[in-house]
Amino acid sequence: MSDTSRRTLFQTAALAGLAGAAVPAAASEFPSGPFWNNVPEPALSGEELPRFTFALEKSDGRVDGGSFGKEATVKQLPISTGIAGVSMRLEPGVARELHWHATAAEWAFVLDGRCRTTVIDPEGRSATNDFDPGDVWYFPRGHAHSIQCLGEKPVHFILIFDNGYFSEFGTFSVTDWLGHVPKPLLAKNLGLPEAALAAFPTKEVYFTHGPVPPAEPALPLQGALRTPPETHRFRLMAQEPHSIHEGGREWRVGAADFPISTTMTGVVLDLEPGALRELHWHPNADEWQYVVSGTIGVTLFGANGRFRAETLEAGDVGYIPQGYGHSIENTGTELARILIAFNTGDYQAIDLSAWLAANPAYLLADHFNVSVSEIEKLPRSDVFIAGG
Ligand code: MN
Ligand code: MN
Repeated sequence: MSDTSRRTLFQTAALAGLAGAAVPAAASEFPSGPFWNNVPEPALSGEELPRFTFALEKSDGRVDGGSFGKEATVKQLPISTGIAGVSMRLEPGVARELHWHATAAEWAFVLDGRCRTTVIDPEGRSATNDFDPGDVWYFPRGHAHSIQCLGEKPVHFILIFDNGYFSEFGTFSVTDWLGHVPKPLLAKNLGLPEAALAAFPTKEVYFTHGPVPPAEPALPLQGALRTPPETHRFRLMAQEPHSIHEGGREWRVGAADFPISTTMTGVVLDLEPGALRELHWHPNADEWQYVVSGTIGVTLFGANGRFRAETLEAGDVGYIPQGYGHSIENTGTELARILIAFNTGDYQAIDLSAWLAANPAYLLADHFNVSVSEIEKLPRSDVFIAGG
């Protein structure tokens, strides 16, 4: 049996099984994993490609004074089933409280300001790291963590999750949990009298408020650090770009250079005005884009004649489903910087120029209705970034 027919049979069986089942009421009820990966996505099965961009920074999100969290999930951007993202700003003295995520790993990039994270793994080892602009973190799914703003300036970072159904407002927060556990049970658990718990919040705090943290991390309550072997921090923008062209540069980090990041690869792509990240696709991952600065035109090809082009400004998000053809062009007058994440630790791409160059000239001539001598003018190797 070929792969294709096996997949079709599997899909048919999966859909038949679904026919009598209740549809999950909330996005958070959708499981992630291979089963759903094999079900055709309704958003993608129509005659036209759906919208693939969302104005994240223009959205309202959750606001607490000058601190906020704004998210792009399947609710805001239905096409983005594989990856969700959040823009978060914390004021001095504010922390994103202790929490974990049941259905997603968290990858982050610091845009402005400084912050400190603490994360625990299932072996009870914890790591505390400080982050500057251009740094990246990765927290495996289910590993509890917190994020504190450091210093007297706000911090602004982008969080990216390897599940589009994940919501930042459905996280497992410590105050939400303990605020709902009966007091006698919690008192027994913590070895305290019930009266000592009287002031505990009864609902999720989400953003905590306190003094600006000390310059050096304080020791944990247990008195000593037991740190895990793999770091959660990668200083992406402190590296040399892995790819340098006249029209732009790209920094990239996946699991090979940042071993804990098994499910995510991150990229920073700089394009000069007029430069084009050429037509390409990713065989093994979805792509999530956040425009840090500038204006870009993105094209998307979804087979069967379906093609769509959209313009993204700073603060906008774009989404490219796995395997879909696409390009990114700086259509503005200033440098464009795009933060990009893929839901794989093993980055893969096939570029148009390399694809064509791997085929004989006569075959390409037959496709495009031009002479072999014209075909021979095509690039002989990967272009990656054209123009600019
Ligand atoms: Mn988190
Ligand atoms: Mn791409």
